[in-house]
Amino acid sequence: MRIVLVGPPGAGKGTQAAYLAENLSIPHISTGDLFRANISQGTDLGKQARAYMDAGQLVPDEVTIGMAKDRMAQPDAVNGFLLDGFPRNVGQAEALDVMLKDEGVKLDAVLDLEVPEDEVVKRIAGRRICRNDSAHVFHATYNKPKTEGVCDTCGGELYQRDDDSEETVRTRLEVYHTQTEPIIDYYRAQGLVVTISALGKVTEVTARAMAALKQSDEG
Ligand code: AMP
Repeated sequence: MRIVLVGPPGAGKGTQAAYLAENLSIPHISTGDLFRANISQGTDLGKQARAYMDAGQLVPDEVTIGMAKDRMAQPDAVNGFLLDGFPRNVGQAEALDVMLKDEGVKLDAVLDLEVPEDEVVKRIAGRRICRNDSAHVFHATYNKPKTEGVCDTCGGELYQRDDDSEETVRTRLEVYHTQTEPIIDYYRAQGLVVTISALGKVTEVTARAMAALKQSDEG
């Protein structure tokens, strides 16, 4: 399957993407994770992306589209992938359509994770992420790790993302509404959008997502 995951920052895209990718046996491709890996490795691409990310703005399409394309061209993505955080504007969605058309393949679904704005702010303000794997996510109040600062899953160090500060979150939400949300209408016109609520336990949301994807596949 070829799936795009959309939803505001804090909707749980990374967490759900990891579970869904495993259930569906497809790679989880997160452009945010790719940028963060480039930053920690000190690559030119990381240097180009950093200022935009710290400000909560989108990294320019010239940089992002090429990086996403390279990742999708890897052998593990030949039979499908779950895109998390790409496309993030209509220009990227159009570029993705061209890439897929060139390969003679199509998207199967666009899974839209819905979550109220006040919940998003609460989730992000307390979010703590594992340095080893961004899918290992905890919350300072709602989902505390057993030992403060240590990942329950792998023992990695938990940290707060630089762009999870309150001010940057506000910018990211605005960017989501103005630039990313329009891709939902773009994909709705192609009959691909499946919307689910991202509220509730992680396992409940995964089950809801799997059921919705199955239904859209059959329909
Ligand atoms: P994420 O981990 O998906 O929340 O992404 C973190 C940040 O990386 C975003 O706020 C952007 O600055 C940048 N980023 C990730 N994906 C994209 C994309 N598809 N286009 C532009 N910027 C992106």
